[in-house]
Amino acid sequence: MSEIKERLAHVMDRIEEARKRSPWHQKVTLVAVTKFHPLEDMEEAIRLGVTQVGENRVQEMEQKYKALTLPVTWNLQGHLQKNKVKKAVAMADLIQSGDSVEILQEIDRRAGEIGKVQDALLEFNISGEASKHGIPPEKMEETIRTVKELPHIRVKGLMCMAPNYEDVEKTRPVFRKAHTMWNEMKKEFPEGQISLLSMGMTHDFEIAIEEGANMVRIGTAIFGERQYHQEESKA
Ligand SMILES: *Cc1c(COP(=O)(O)O)cnc(C)c1O
Repeated sequence: MSEIKERLAHVMDRIEEARKRSPWHQKVTLVAVTKFHPLEDMEEAIRLGVTQVGENRVQEMEQKYKALTLPVTWNLQGHLQKNKVKKAVAMADLIQSGDSVEILQEIDRRAGEIGKVQDALLEFNISGEASKHGIPPEKMEETIRTVKELPHIRVKGLMCMAPNYEDVEKTRPVFRKAHTMWNEMKKEFPEGQISLLSMGMTHDFEIAIEEGANMVRIGTAIFGERQYHQEESKA
């Protein structure tokens, strides 16, 4: 068995076990995070049944987007620069990193230009870490009010990242708060469009699922450690 096949099978088992432990037994969608991994790894994962991939940088996504011939759902989940939004909107099925009103407005503008309604998540900085992007939780209502006026964005849910605690159990309150906020969001959009609670990465996805995540974004546990080249880490 190839390494990716083996690792992916193990991840799927762990997702299933966590899902059973969760009080909601929710269906969980896996986004395979392919950033810094070659196209061939992405292709292999798709052949093994992965239906969604996630990339962080528009430029890297574009290279793979142009080269890939297999069908897949494209997630963009890295902090977006304003000048990259046009390309992002042209490719992404779901932009998970709606992390400021300014960027959401730009997504709306660029989507409007090509007659698209862009699916997006609101990314919140729940732990308040200075190094993290994301909307502060106390700005949730204000942000929702603004986003509701944007005709070319459809908010589908909430995305967050927990701090990289050594004791992974410490992430639980962060995910719990995210779940509460997600329920608040559902009330703000009574049409039922809020369906995605995207949280959990390699090191904390089981706790995220136990706390209600229905979308996890996993890279390392499937593809191994990322090789950051000097040139790429500058971008
Ligand atoms: C890189 C990244 C992931 C995946 O991280 P792993 O620890 O490799 O699973 C998930 N979400 C976001 C936003 C990321 O930047």
